[in-house]
Amino acid sequence: MNQVATQADPESIPASIFRAYDIRGIAEQQLTTASVKRIGQAIGSEALDQNITSLLVGYDGRLSSPTLSIALIEGIQSSGCSVVSIGLVPTPLLYFATYTTDYTSGVMLTASHNPANYNGLKIVFNQTSLADNQIQTIRTRIENDQLRTGRGGFAELEVDRSYIDNICGRVQLSKPLKIVIDCGNAVPGKIAPTLFQELGCDVHPIFCEIDGSFPNHHPDPTVPENLAALASTVLEKNADIGVALDGDGDRVGLITNRGKFVDADRMLMLLVQTILPSYSGRAVVFDVKCSSKLGALVEQFGGSPVMHRSGHSFMKQKMRETNAILGGEYAAHIFIKDDWFGFDDGLYVAARLLKIISESSASSDEIFDQFFTGFCTPEIKIEVPEERKFSLMDRLLELANFPAAKLITLDGLRVEYADGWGLVRASNTSPALLLRFEADSQERMDEIQEKFRTLILSVDKNLEIGF
Ligand SMILES: [Zn+2]
Repeated sequence: MNQVATQADPESIPASIFRAYDIRGIAEQQLTTASVKRIGQAIGSEALDQNITSLLVGYDGRLSSPTLSIALIEGIQSSGCSVVSIGLVPTPLLYFATYTTDYTSGVMLTASHNPANYNGLKIVFNQTSLADNQIQTIRTRIENDQLRTGRGGFAELEVDRSYIDNICGRVQLSKPLKIVIDCGNAVPGKIAPTLFQELGCDVHPIFCEIDGSFPNHHPDPTVPENLAALASTVLEKNADIGVALDGDGDRVGLITNRGKFVDADRMLMLLVQTILPSYSGRAVVFDVKCSSKLGALVEQFGGSPVMHRSGHSFMKQKMRETNAILGGEYAAHIFIKDDWFGFDDGLYVAARLLKIISESSASSDEIFDQFFTGFCTPEIKIEVPEERKFSLMDRLLELANFPAAKLITLDGLRVEYADGWGLVRASNTSPALLLRFEADSQERMDEIQEKFRTLILSVDKNLEIGF
């Protein structure tokens, strides 16, 4: 019998797992202990070349994470770079540690909200999430065998307590709120119930026990169906609001006291209305999927709206470049720079939204109801083969013909009219084209959708269009 290989054959690490803003693949197939060790060695080598001598390492609650985190740590150490392990934590705690400890760089082992059999890595160097070319640099290092060897040190650090204390020191609620928290059995369950209790809330947790098989629902709080149990519990307990976190805690979902789903457009609008008056002229960055009403609200409150391509790494880089005070994506990565560090953090964003709600005599339902986002769709997915998604998108751009509209091509194609818009772009994380529409009337939205349907079918008449 052949000896088990101790080093991953670079050929066996598929290039497709190195994505636009992180590394993601199926555990035990694309991300084996051998390949993760090799990737760890490449990340450590790249870190050392940038004079980063220690990397924080955290991991999420997935079934494959304890084993793969050991491989990751061994890989990093084998490059000569040291590891400071912060253990089982939501992703925002790793980001937090890069701002509040001696270490400014790290690697988070997580596949966020992906299915249970996935895993992945989010990489931060000098407080900045790696994206695009920087992720590809890790891949080419492995392919070209540009790997350092050495024996990096190992230490452990606990950040859970300082994270909770830090937020409780900044955020005080005006009155106690009754809340239901749904962690989807993912890693935020380790922090969220304690954090919100210490903020003074009466907390009713559901699915907060960590179970990497995600037995109750998918930990993606941007899909309303995933929040059905949260909505019914909010109504049953007569709670002020329901809070859901995604698989690694960097994104948040909300349910109002009347059981209604709140999308990120309206969370961002409430934050704009509350935060922007103190920061006249400052930029607010949002992605191409967001409501046109959001940009208009930013202008109304004296800010400068900046639209940008989707992806948490791109958003954070753009925020830095524009010195933005707030940012957010329709996928519910929200970045607050006011009294926080500007990284995506579902727990902190929820705490800030609870503070705003606690200061109002209106209910959470009334507060979010004040923001009209027109007639809009959620994100619509058209499944396409992974290897064709970008070429299909290129073809859509070539054939796009929308007279009298403004075309925005920052990320896919956004077609803007005075009374509505439509978007099609290639997903960075799944084999799909993603679409979204918004208009001032249902008839107008139907017209815009029809134009997109015609365009897409002209590129491939066999695509199944679900709108
Ligand atoms: Zn996430």
